[in-house]
Amino acid sequence: MDETGEIGGLVAATLADFAPLAIQDLIPPPLPPGGLWDPTAPPPEEPPPTPVAWRVCFADVAQRDGAAAAVRDLSLGLAIESVDLPDDDWVARSQASLTAIHAGCFIVAPPWDLPGAPPDGVHVLVIEPSMGFGTGHHQTTRLCLDALSGLPVAGRAVLDLGTGSGVLAMAASVLGARRVHAVDIDADAIAAAERSAALNTLPTPVVFETADAFVTPPAPGDVVLANLTGAMLIRSADALGALVAPGGTLVISGFMDYERPGVETALEAFDVVARSAEDEWCAAVLRRR
Ligand code: SAM
Repeated sequence: MDETGEIGGLVAATLADFAPLAIQDLIPPPLPPGGLWDPTAPPPEEPPPTPVAWRVCFADVAQRDGAAAAVRDLSLGLAIESVDLPDDDWVARSQASLTAIHAGCFIVAPPWDLPGAPPDGVHVLVIEPSMGFGTGHHQTTRLCLDALSGLPVAGRAVLDLGTGSGVLAMAASVLGARRVHAVDIDADAIAAAERSAALNTLPTPVVFETADAFVTPPAPGDVVLANLTGAMLIRSADALGALVAPGGTLVISGFMDYERPGVETALEAFDVVARSAEDEWCAAVLRRR
């Protein structure tokens, strides 16, 4: 990866700790010399470095300022400007165009794009897009749904750490989990997850709770879902180990390919059963020894 890509990956991973609502690239990729319509134009001898400018939107000022401080602490010499946007419900407007997605044995659909009768073995999860991460439009949510589809969940106690929209917890319920406990540090996400859960027929009711999973740890689960960030998985590795019952399964995501070695080393109390990736985002299924 080039230097710009490495810096971008580092900044994206740092921002992920502050739940950004959107990251927009403000500078389009450069046109080749002569424009797009002259394939015979020779490439420049030394391609100029591509300037990068991102606009990153957060739900509140505390998250924005925390993210700005964390990116400054990386000492990359980046110019950072903080802007207050009018609260004109742009999140709702930007999400109004979302459509259903397919991942593993699930279709995740907003209420306005419900599929007809799904094929046998495919489950529809209705998620009202909101401030909670997890509409299925992010690679990491899809990777977790795909991993969950291949696991024996029926009859197991499932713990969803950082439930966001509640999508993975609802998926576990639909797969026949005996108990599903879903926690998130963000009370707005939990409220939205409860609203979405009410739109679904869940064989096992999901217990949603606003909590920091590593400060007030829930009871251990046989299957633990943790779509968090690489940094959080590494620094919480011991706590995560204690939340997975012996012989239990841990599904992790939210980390990027360059973070995988560090994440797997931190979680060395587990055996890696499967690895997957979409674009630069990664997931893994681990088994506690
Ligand atoms: N599980 C959903 C999915 O897979 O799409 C959402 C994952 S989202 C990447 C991570 C979620 O973890 C966010 O909703 C965030 O608020 C939550 N979170 C971050 N740190 C947490 C912590 N220490 N305890 C509980 N939740 C946390």
